[in-house]
Amino acid sequence: MTHDQTLVKTLDFQLNIQSDNESLLEDATVESRWVYNETIRLAKQGVDWDEISDRVADDADLVKNTTQRIVAKALGAMENYHKYDGFGPPSHTKDGAYPLRANYEEGYNLTLCDDASVGFRISAKPYKHVNGVLEGDDAHLDILRAALTSDEWNIGTAEALFHDGTPELHVNVTNTEHTVRNKEDSRTVIGLDVNEGNVAVSALSADGVEDTLVIDFPEIKSERHRYFTMRKRVQNAAKPSMHDSLEGREERFVRDRLHKVSRHIVKWCQQFEKPCIVFEDLKEMRDSIDYGTRMNRRLHHLPFRALQYYTSYKAAFEGVPTAWIDPEYTSQRCPICGHTERGNRNKKRFKCQDCEHQDHSDRGASVNVAVKGIKKHQEWDVPALNSLPQVRKVRRQASGAVDAPTVTHDTDQGHQTDGVAGVSD
Ligand SMILES: [Zn+2]
Repeated sequence: MTHDQTLVKTLDFQLNIQSDNESLLEDATVESRWVYNETIRLAKQGVDWDEISDRVADDADLVKNTTQRIVAKALGAMENYHKYDGFGPPSHTKDGAYPLRANYEEGYNLTLCDDASVGFRISAKPYKHVNGVLEGDDAHLDILRAALTSDEWNIGTAEALFHDGTPELHVNVTNTEHTVRNKEDSRTVIGLDVNEGNVAVSALSADGVEDTLVIDFPEIKSERHRYFTMRKRVQNAAKPSMHDSLEGREERFVRDRLHKVSRHIVKWCQQFEKPCIVFEDLKEMRDSIDYGTRMNRRLHHLPFRALQYYTSYKAAFEGVPTAWIDPEYTSQRCPICGHTERGNRNKKRFKCQDCEHQDHSDRGASVNVAVKGIKKHQEWDVPALNSLPQVRKVRRQASGAVDAPTVTHDTDQGHQTDGVAGVSD
């Protein structure tokens, strides 16, 4: 329970394929599916697992080492089936693509180019390569550049796959200098609720809510709106190059702000005993469920994924673990009595229809995220919440400087909350 864990990151990139052979990569992912199916089929037949790899590799039209990686992954699926109840055996008759898993410097290679971009070469088939340049978030590219130029990170296996029709490469890297404390060995769980104009974080220990911090970043929202209008204008004037450079400027602005905000959050978290930061996992939800307009707004208008990502990797460098929970009902549940109802939340105010608890609604959501995190990953119980401490608010100025914290919320019981003055919508 107390073992520190190696810092492992998966870096996601889009593949800008320069050689004219995207179809080669597609073929390889279909071949990868065949390898997967064949492995599962042989395992079900009772063939010795140690023999499967060689048998499949003889017939697969892939680099041998790559075949071995895919076989190993398929056997992992079989192993999980044997280990856990409640799942059927993996299917060996599925069609379509399966990620092409490859070893670094065997099935794929990366090079740092003169212009600081990162080139890739994937051996899609024996002696047949797909070349090009990686594209993606700067945070990911930065780590990859560090890995290519220093011993701080080791580059491991990668998976080439198609995501919504776009070719991607997901690269695993391991940090050799930092370890992260096991998340199940935490004494404070910190829930994070990201919104278009602010982020709320609440720290919960076995004793209750230790503190809440709300960081406003209205300038991100207003800058994004300003750039949106400018882009529209040049679009109408049919100047695509100007449109692109505006997009780049907006992105850099937002990214820079989010880096500062995430640094602030991680620093704040470190004042607590054995912290673990919990995020809502919003990525699975896009197509699946209608979570209402608030969630849709968060999905489409907000760089919240970037803020979650920056926070998690800065935390990892400090040895602070992070965890993910299902976001359902986090904004509709009353943190005091647990009553859950749509319509509890009205802009920045939360009012429980049951126990009449009222609060800053983003704080409530962040408490709920932390509660879910405790239930999912900790052995200690969720504390009884009778009252919540005052919300501390800071506002980031356009310069990046932070105002002294201002208390905007005065309450002894957590029920008297008309003091939420100064909360901006
Ligand atoms: Zn309530």
